[in-house]
Amino acid sequence: MTSDIRVMFWFRTDLRLHDSPALQAALSLNPSALFPVWCWDPNYVYKHRVGINRFRFLLESMQTLSDRITEIEPNSQLLVVRGEPTYLLPLLWSRWRITHLVFEKDTSAYGRRRDAAILAAAKTASVIVVAVQGHHLYDPEEVTRRNKGKPTMTISSLQKIADGIGNVPKPLPAPQSLPLPKLTSNLSKRNELLLALAESLKGITNFAVSDDIDLNSSAFGGQRTEKVNCYDSIDGGNGEFSVPSIQSIGMETIENERGNNNDSFKIKGGEAEALTRLEKLCKKPDYIATFSKPNTSPGNSIQDASTTLLSPYLKFGCLGVRKMWWDIEEAKKKYKGTKTTTPPQNLNGQLLFRDMYACAEFAVGDNFTRIRVYDSEGVSITPRPLGDAVSEQRLAAFKEGRTGFPWIDALMRQLKQEGWMHHLGRHSVAAFLTRGQCWISWERGAEIFDEYLIDWDPCSNPGNWMWLSCSAFYSQYFKLYGLVSFPSKYDASGKLVRQYCPELANFPDKFIYEPHAAPLKIQKKAGCIIGVDYPAPILDEKKQKEENMVRMKACFAKQFYGTSEEVLNGTADEI
Ligand code: FAD
Repeated sequence: MTSDIRVMFWFRTDLRLHDSPALQAALSLNPSALFPVWCWDPNYVYKHRVGINRFRFLLESMQTLSDRITEIEPNSQLLVVRGEPTYLLPLLWSRWRITHLVFEKDTSAYGRRRDAAILAAAKTASVIVVAVQGHHLYDPEEVTRRNKGKPTMTISSLQKIADGIGNVPKPLPAPQSLPLPKLTSNLSKRNELLLALAESLKGITNFAVSDDIDLNSSAFGGQRTEKVNCYDSIDGGNGEFSVPSIQSIGMETIENERGNNNDSFKIKGGEAEALTRLEKLCKKPDYIATFSKPNTSPGNSIQDASTTLLSPYLKFGCLGVRKMWWDIEEAKKKYKGTKTTTPPQNLNGQLLFRDMYACAEFAVGDNFTRIRVYDSEGVSITPRPLGDAVSEQRLAAFKEGRTGFPWIDALMRQLKQEGWMHHLGRHSVAAFLTRGQCWISWERGAEIFDEYLIDWDPCSNPGNWMWLSCSAFYSQYFKLYGLVSFPSKYDASGKLVRQYCPELANFPDKFIYEPHAAPLKIQKKAGCIIGVDYPAPILDEKKQKEENMVRMKACFAKQFYGTSEEVLNGTADEI
């Protein structure tokens, strides 16, 4: 019997078919039709300065998903639409006679605001909404409820709650079939479908066109030259509801002009890439079972990354986090040795950190960035006044990888070129910018990460920046990362520096992390004069460190927990 249930499945944080509890929930409704939609949300693009690597990764992941859908039903694809979802989706529900809207639950502050508005619109339109958790190991909402509404400020508090909840649910297989919209004609079936869909959208085409996003606008950092319009050629030409290419949004050209070459973009998006990467890692049970984060090297390039490099896939949901958890568990069983690692250092522990920040953000919502132990105005820990010339110069040098400290510069250039950086590299640069040397607000650094990271996450990014700046989550401010001693521990020959700061490539190992200390004779021999071919250090590392340590001590001595108390209602003692 044909069901009259017509589902819109809204892909957002879950660009995959495997391990998708939301998709399984949609299928369990036994729908007669399932419309797989991606809505290009202008809020996402306007609010963030999304760099080319994240954009590229997203588009590749969308295309891979669309191709998978086409594999299942040759005349179907991911239906990419663009517009404010709270306005556009209700129009589509009406055109497509949608009865149910199903999506993976997005517990981020913005996600919740958007979904509350969608829920209200759905109620008016008599569309039933089904939201299913699948982006984290544990549902941040449930964790927060069990934590009496308080944020999880430590990994042990999360672990305790997780123990109470029970095992991470087992991953689900990808569906073999989907009731995708069917075609009626035997002419060009693909175009038929697209035309039929275009027809159903006619009434809103004008809306879409008039709502063109001007990619030259300052909201985009003025970086792009063309307009993007996912409704281009709605009359049956190429591109209806299709994933736009990176070229069509004008980004590649600009990056090329900046001197980047395409080969440097090596983290390829998509579900298949994610699964292959995970599978390869799990074929190394020794690596999985003995993984210990502090022992992984930040000095490797992405080709031989010492950690899993799965964060971009988890961020966009190309990889199910429960799948990762359980595949790790299975791999560990094959380990023959006895020296297994445990959370928080092991791989499971890493995934728990991801949950910890998501749960903390859920509890605090839009105030997440205010859960610091210091008030930025109160004690002069952060930030220097906006526009302060010294800070702005330091910040610009930091962003461009021109601080004169090769370890920091190599990491920041790696971030800009490839969209990723090892965790301990992130530690180094975040501590350097904030309490370590530059004494700049962590928020300014987090903004740079927002622009350049592929794996940028609204909870993990600010959360980790707060941790590293000792603003919240972590308080051992006396632990710092030497700009020479720290990288030397992992890589005395400066491989990463030689790769990302090629002007320093010929320096001997002894001076690779401090070329400014090399005698002029050595600089000349290396073909790089400091202050001419590579910048001299923007500050005195030792002097700044000492000054900042005094400031940090003063902050901690005052126990200035004002904002934290106010926002968290008395949780400062947990930090
Ligand atoms: P692995 O070590 O292989 O870990 C496996 C997975 O665990 C990661 O993919 C990630 O999903 C999760 N994970 C590991 N460490 C953390 C952590 N400390 N916090 C949250 N999740 C973690 N991670 C992001 O996913 N998005 C961000 O925006 C982000 N911003 C950061 C900013 C700063 C200043 C710092 C210090 C860290 C940040 N991290 C962020 C955490 C961490 O650096 C990355 O998750 C990790 O380096 C990704 O590489 P990987 O996949 O090889 O990690």
